[in-house]
Amino acid sequence: MVLRLSQLFLRTLREDPADAEVASHKLLVRAGYIRRAAPGIYTWLPLGLSVLRKVEQIIREEMTAIGAQEVHFPALLPKDPYEASNRWTEYGEGIFRLKDRKGADYLLAPTHEEMFTLLVKDLYSSYKDLPLSIYQIQNKYRDEARPRAGLLRGREFIMKDSYSFDADDAGLDASYAAHREAYLKIFARLGLDVIPVAATAGAMGGSKSEEFLHPTEIGEDTFVRSPGGYAANVEAVTTIAPPEIDYSTAPPARVLDTPNTPTIETLVDASNQLAPRSEADGGPWTAADTLKNVVLAVTLPTGERQLVVIGLPGDRAVDLKRVEANIGSFLPIAGEIGLEAANEDDLKKNPLLVKGYIGPGVEAGKPLLGLEGASKLLYLVDPRIVSGTSWITGANEDGKHVYGLVAGRDFTWDGVIECTEVRAGDEAPDGSGLLETARGIEMGHIFQLGRKYAEALDLKVLDQNGKQVVVTMGSYGVGVTRAVAALAESNHDDKGLVWPRSVAPADVHVVAVGRGEEIFQTAEKLAIELEAAGLDVIYDDRPKVSPGVKFGDAELVGVPTILAVGRGLVDGVVEIKDRRSGDAENVPVEKAVDFVVNAARSR
Ligand code: ATP
Ligand code: MG
Repeated sequence: MVLRLSQLFLRTLREDPADAEVASHKLLVRAGYIRRAAPGIYTWLPLGLSVLRKVEQIIREEMTAIGAQEVHFPALLPKDPYEASNRWTEYGEGIFRLKDRKGADYLLAPTHEEMFTLLVKDLYSSYKDLPLSIYQIQNKYRDEARPRAGLLRGREFIMKDSYSFDADDAGLDASYAAHREAYLKIFARLGLDVIPVAATAGAMGGSKSEEFLHPTEIGEDTFVRSPGGYAANVEAVTTIAPPEIDYSTAPPARVLDTPNTPTIETLVDASNQLAPRSEADGGPWTAADTLKNVVLAVTLPTGERQLVVIGLPGDRAVDLKRVEANIGSFLPIAGEIGLEAANEDDLKKNPLLVKGYIGPGVEAGKPLLGLEGASKLLYLVDPRIVSGTSWITGANEDGKHVYGLVAGRDFTWDGVIECTEVRAGDEAPDGSGLLETARGIEMGHIFQLGRKYAEALDLKVLDQNGKQVVVTMGSYGVGVTRAVAALAESNHDDKGLVWPRSVAPADVHVVAVGRGEEIFQTAEKLAIELEAAGLDVIYDDRPKVSPGVKFGDAELVGVPTILAVGRGLVDGVVEIKDRRSGDAENVPVEKAVDFVVNAARSR
C-alpha cells in the first residue's frame, strides 16, 4: 500500500517535547512515531508501528533459524508462581501489583521465567522432549525508579524473551551458544553495533551471563575493554588480588593522635608529618596505604534498612552499582535492593561509629566491625585487603588513627566484595592488558539460569535411565522497543531521523513539489509503480503544502530515499536523494523506478 500523507495519521512537530533529553526521544515524537501516554508509557503511531514490526520480524526470523518456537503469554498474571520463586518479594517496588474483585493478588509481568517453566512442566516429562527453546514478543511492565529517554527506559516496553530447557549442562551450553549467535545476527541485521560483555547475573540467579551493549555516550551502563579482547560490564569486573604477605615479623599496630584528619587527604598529610615512612619502607604515605571504611545503607526488599560497612584502600572510591550487583549473597534475603550512603540518622543510631575515624576495631578484645563485632554490622572488604597487608585506618575515636593494622592478624571481615570504581588503566583480570572504559545501552542479555527456577517450581524430566532429573534453563532477552530508540539514537542528524533500510518505515518517500497537475500525476504514477515493484512507499500528495515543509518532513521522517517530482519535470527529470549521504541526482522519469529499486536492494 502507498501511504499517502494526505491520509496518513501523522502530525510532525516543529518543537522538541519539553520532557525529552536525548535525540531519539525528541525525534521519534517530533516525526510522529510515538506519543507519550504517561511517564515511561508510549502510544505507537502508524510510522512507529511500522518500524517496530520490522524489528520484530528480524528477531522472529533469527529465533526461527535456531529452532525456537513462538508462544504468547498473558501480561496479567497471578501471584502464585512469583511467590514460589520468591520474586513476588524480591521485586519490591519494581513491579506493578493489582488485585481482582475477589481480592486475589496479580501482577503485570516484568519478565516471564516462572510462567515458561510451569508451561513446560505442564506438558513435558521426558528427556526425549528436550532440548526446547520457546519465546514470545510481549509487553513487560516494570515500575522503573527513573523512566528516562523515551523508549530507552520505559515502564511498559516490549521484550523478546526466550527460554531454553535442557536435560543436562552440555545441552544448556549448546542452547546458550545458539542464542548468542542469533543475537549477534539480529543486531547485525538491525545495523546496531553491539559488544557482548561479561555480566553479573544479578537478581536472576544462575551462572554465566553476557550483555549486548550498544556503545553510546548516553548509555547508563559502563563497560571496560582491553586491547587483548576482554570486555565486561563494570559490575562484573573482578579485581586481581595481591598475594598474601607473611606477617610474622610485622611490628604491632599503634594508635596515634591525628587531630582534625577526617578525610583521606588530611590523614595522609598528617601521617607524613607525625609518622613519616622511610624510603626503605616505601617512602611517603599515600592514600593507597590507608584503609577507608564507608558506611552504606541497604534497603532490603522487605523495606527494612540495614547498614553495611565497606573497607577499601583510600585511593579508591566505592562504586554503588558494583556493590549493588555483588552484595546479594551477603544479605539475609534475595531481591532488588536500594543502596545509598548512610545518613546522619543512621550514624546516630550506631554511636560506636565515629564519623571520619571508623576502623575495623583493634588489638585485643572484640573487633568493632563485622557481624561478630561490637557493632554487629556486616563488614565487607575490597579484594585488595588480603592477609598480611598493613594499613593506616580509623581507631574509632575522634582524632585518632591506628598505624600498622595488619589484615588477618588484627582484623577480619565477613566477606570480600567487588566494590571499588574500576578505572581506565586498571589491569584486565585475564591479563590481556590495561582497561579502557566506555558507556553503552544494554540491548540484550543472555543468562544461563541453571536449575534455580526448575527447582523452585519442580520442573523435572525422566532421563535415559528412568531417573527424575531437574531441567536446566537459560533465559534470553532483547529490548525490542529499546532497539527502536537505540536505532533512532545512532541514526539521526540535525534535520531528523536517518533509518537504516532494514527497519525504515518505508523504502522511498515520494514528494510532489509545486503546483502543476502534471507534477502530481507523475508523482502518483511513480509511487504506484514503486509499490508494484515491491517497495514500501510514502507519498506526500498534500496539495497546498509548501516545498520547504514537504522536504523538511521528509528529512525528519528519515526514509532512506527521497524522490522529488517538481520543476525538473519540464526537462523530463526527477530528483532522487539519499537521505544519509545527502547526495542528490537528477534521473530521467522513465529510469526513476529502476534507480530507486536498485538503491533499495543495495542495502
Ligand atoms: P537495565 O539494566 O537496562 O535495567 P535489565 O538488566 O533490567 O535492564 P533484563 O531484565 O536483562 O533488563 O531485560 C532484557 C532486555 O530488556 C534488556 O537487555 C533491555 O534491552 C530490555 N529492557 C529492560 N528494561 C527495560 C526498560 N525499562 N525499557 C526498555 N527496555 C528494557
Ligand atoms: Mg539485564
